[in-house]
Amino acid sequence: MVKFLDLAAQYETIKNEIDTAIRDVITKSAFIGGEYVAKFEQEFSDYCNVLHCVGVGNGTDALEIAIEALELEHGSEIIVPANSFIASSEAVTRNGHKIVFADCDAQSYVISIEDIKKRITSKTKAIIAVHLYGHPCDMDALKELANLHGLYIIEDCAQAHGAEYKGQKIGSIGDIAAFSFYPGKNLGAYGDAGAITTNNAELARKSRMIANHGRIGKYDHEFEGRNSRLDGLQAAILSVKLKYLPEWTDKRIIAAEYYLSNLNNVEQITLPVRHEWAKQVYHLFVIRCTERDDLAKHLANQGIQTGVHYPISLPKLKAYEYAKQANEELFSNRVDATLLSLPIGEHLNIHDLEIITKSIKEYFGSKYM
Ligand SMILES: *Cc1c(COP(=O)(O)O)cnc(C)c1O
Repeated sequence: MVKFLDLAAQYETIKNEIDTAIRDVITKSAFIGGEYVAKFEQEFSDYCNVLHCVGVGNGTDALEIAIEALELEHGSEIIVPANSFIASSEAVTRNGHKIVFADCDAQSYVISIEDIKKRITSKTKAIIAVHLYGHPCDMDALKELANLHGLYIIEDCAQAHGAEYKGQKIGSIGDIAAFSFYPGKNLGAYGDAGAITTNNAELARKSRMIANHGRIGKYDHEFEGRNSRLDGLQAAILSVKLKYLPEWTDKRIIAAEYYLSNLNNVEQITLPVRHEWAKQVYHLFVIRCTERDDLAKHLANQGIQTGVHYPISLPKLKAYEYAKQANEELFSNRVDATLLSLPIGEHLNIHDLEIITKSIKEYFGSKYM
């Protein structure tokens, strides 16, 4: 049995530290705010090499609050990649803005700079740079466009903790960034959790206030905000897990390298391509295959779990029928039925990787065996 994700196995490797951390939080009743949240925010901003980190309730809230903090004119257009999780686009609509989908790059799957250029209008105010599957977006090209047209760059880092663009950590490059610590992410809590990072003190302050009922002190509400806070238990757990993130990330990269060198001769599948400027942290290892469903079934029969990210491109979702981009000739619209995510993570060993690649080759016939 090869699991797609194995959080129980991961817990076993850090059990004592986690159990102690949880007990400490409960003993001190440090449930909301307090020292564990402040400690994790400091550690995570150090990790990202960014000045400010604001813990929030989850990654979706992080995106929503980040956009709200920018105080864009109601009805602004925000460009979102056509291949992502719906949270990337939801955050736009929920702030009263208009989603404009742009296509994704056929090699790295992140937002296509060429396609963005076709979609910028006088109403465009921001771009959501989703570092999809753990691959950083082309940040220099995005910044050039942003400078030229006066746009904000919001980084969606939910899948890319620790990824780097030309040696710089993602989450420290755009105007403001959103992280998710959903349990299955590269850095995951034991429940919902998220964070906003930025080098802009004013945006950090605004975000913190929005996430905490429009206040800094206890009852000095300056405006109406909401309740979206990182809780103490999750913060303490994240502090423990953050120490292991570099080691776990290395294991993801080793697994990805194994796939890349052992599957490169299988002509029926298309492997992901990493740009030379990217440190890709492989939240997901996504291949393309026209026989996707049959291949997944074959692997499942051998006890190998796979996933699909995402089975329906965002413009083709019922939720976005109104945007009328479902029938546009987009790479993302065309390939969603061919995407297959292979298992990846610190839980895999060389034996698992051998089993997976062997099973894939077996499916495509004796010439690969
Ligand atoms: C997981 C994810 C989110 C949302 O994070 P939650 O913590 O689940 O709310 C946002 N964007 C992307 C790309 C994601 O993968």
